[in-house]
Amino acid sequence: MTQTITLIEGDGIGPEITAQVVRVLQALQLPLTFDRQTLGQTALEQTGSLIPETTLQSIRKNHIALKAPCTTPVGQGFRSVNVQLRLAFDLYANIRPARSLEGVKTRYENVDLIIFRENTEDLYIGEERKIDEDTIEAIKRITRPASQRIIQAAFEYAAAHQRKKVTCVHKANILKQSDGLFLRIFREIAAQYPQIEATDLNVDNACMQMVMHPEQFDVMVMPNLYGDILSDLSSGLIGGLGLLPGVNRNEEIAIFEAVHGSAPDIAGKNLANPTALLQSACMMLDHLGYGDAAQRIHKALVSVLCDTPIRTRDLGGTATTTAFTDALIARL
Ligand code: ATP
Ligand code: MG
Repeated sequence: MTQTITLIEGDGIGPEITAQVVRVLQALQLPLTFDRQTLGQTALEQTGSLIPETTLQSIRKNHIALKAPCTTPVGQGFRSVNVQLRLAFDLYANIRPARSLEGVKTRYENVDLIIFRENTEDLYIGEERKIDEDTIEAIKRITRPASQRIIQAAFEYAAAHQRKKVTCVHKANILKQSDGLFLRIFREIAAQYPQIEATDLNVDNACMQMVMHPEQFDVMVMPNLYGDILSDLSSGLIGGLGLLPGVNRNEEIAIFEAVHGSAPDIAGKNLANPTALLQSACMMLDHLGYGDAAQRIHKALVSVLCDTPIRTRDLGGTATTTAFTDALIARL
């Protein structure tokens, strides 16, 4: 049976990297079809809406989307498209695996961690209020149900994938009530998984530990804001934003997307690294039961990186987005 995937090309470098990822997927001749939809700046220009109803309907119907980065116009009144999309479907788990990639030289060799970022609350609820001209407050909301389901997801993943340790990242020493609640729930749930080691760290200490000894981390779970920051940090451990894949999901719907943004500084120049979106597509293939196809892509990727000097500028090379993909497809 053919699986239909909602495909969102996005803004900035989005269309360039999407075109290349589609080429790779088509080269594998899997029974996949793409339902192309718009979102973000492009959608606003073409349809007058940042998040067109047809795009939401397509995702609701297909349950799977592959999404390139989308731009939210700057200025008052526009809430982040990415945040709105996650909220529209209650995609509570943002999962971002950072694994050292053979052939990409970095300061570290054995990074293999996976971040479970809570995706629906914390400072991202967007509730800021003006007290007076010079005083603004932002609300950080932590609730039991939202914390429980992301922490549960992290432990379930660890149990299902023979992972040994789950680390909770928080700032409960200062935010005693909000992060205190998150940490308390972490400890409650950890008690149900005696075979998995459970540890916790203050976020400042976690940053230092990740930079000093990233290999000690396995599964990590944290509230929204720390997850945003630590996942960019973890991309730095493995070679940069051009590599890190991710998924936003719940039990029903999964939207696969790169961690990076739309990179307006290099858009339209055929310079972007398509690997992050490609690895997101590999996560999607795994999810759809095409693990072999995902492996083939991964092997071809590693072969380009190990056996040739062909790489995009972010990895120190001079290859274009297209030339890099050509080399990869030749090795499939
Ligand atoms: P957002 O708020 O959407 O997360 P951001 O401000 O974090 O955006 P990005 O768009 O992720 O910014 O870009 C950060 C830097 O990383 C930029 O210099 C950009 O060119 C670079 N970058 C991001 N993605 C890629 C990629 N796929 N290939 C090469 N460079 C990239
Ligand atoms: Mg960012």
